[in-house]
Amino acid sequence: MALLADYHTHTKYSRNGHGKGTIEENVRVAYNKGLRQIALTDHGFNQKLYGIRRKDIEKARAEIEDVKERYPIDVLLGVEANIISSHGDVDIVEDDYKNLDIVLLGFHRFVKSTSKREQFGFIIKNILCEIFHHTSKKQKEKNTNAYINAMRNYDIDILTHLNHACKVDVEKVARVAKETNTLIELNGKRLGMTDEEILKCYELGCKFVIDSDAHSPKRVGECNLGLQAALRLRIPDSAIVNYNEIPTFKKNKRKKRS
Ligand SMILES: [Zn+2]
Ligand SMILES: [Zn+2]
Repeated sequence: MALLADYHTHTKYSRNGHGKGTIEENVRVAYNKGLRQIALTDHGFNQKLYGIRRKDIEKARAEIEDVKERYPIDVLLGVEANIISSHGDVDIVEDDYKNLDIVLLGFHRFVKSTSKREQFGFIIKNILCEIFHHTSKKQKEKNTNAYINAMRNYDIDILTHLNHACKVDVEKVARVAKETNTLIELNGKRLGMTDEEILKCYELGCKFVIDSDAHSPKRVGECNLGLQAALRLRIPDSAIVNYNEIPTFKKNKRKKRS
């Protein structure tokens, strides 16, 4: 048995050469590798350089409908949304949910925040922490609260590359991930978390998803780093939602933003 789905892949809708392939190319590779489901999850709207434009969502949806006619594989449309402030603001609005099958959330550089103060205190501050390999206790606490608020106030299906480029208290985040049914990603190319942190998530009852984070078609379904971590840490298959099974996402039970 094996991985049956890849829920984190980028296409050319992640603009300016960031994503390399078309939707059809990603879908073709997924199908040829025997996956039963793939999600196209380009960078979110406040990523002004690389992100998909809101107006392109409709275009991507039409492309998916067309591609689905040729490949017998389930194709989902999503975004890898951005956490954009220390209050846990996310760059999606209520209206976006109805156009998306799945919502991923991660921290990324060069996204537009909610104010100048947050741009510096949250986005740039975390970039500096990453460069100097040091995150103060205070900043870590801020980041942790941001993630907790984001999960409570938005319907997030998957946290991508947690603890990569934005350090949090993984245990605290994991408790709320469990409470809000938010999956934790074991990313195929950058783990972010230490083995101890991954194990802590497991002990707290979180479920994992293993994804490629492919930015080119050939990497779709390539999840080695995540798979190796699961094996090494003896995470049972039952804790990995896309291993031997296909999960359901929050799409149909979207709640109003609180
Ligand atoms: Zn990402
Ligand atoms: Zn990504």
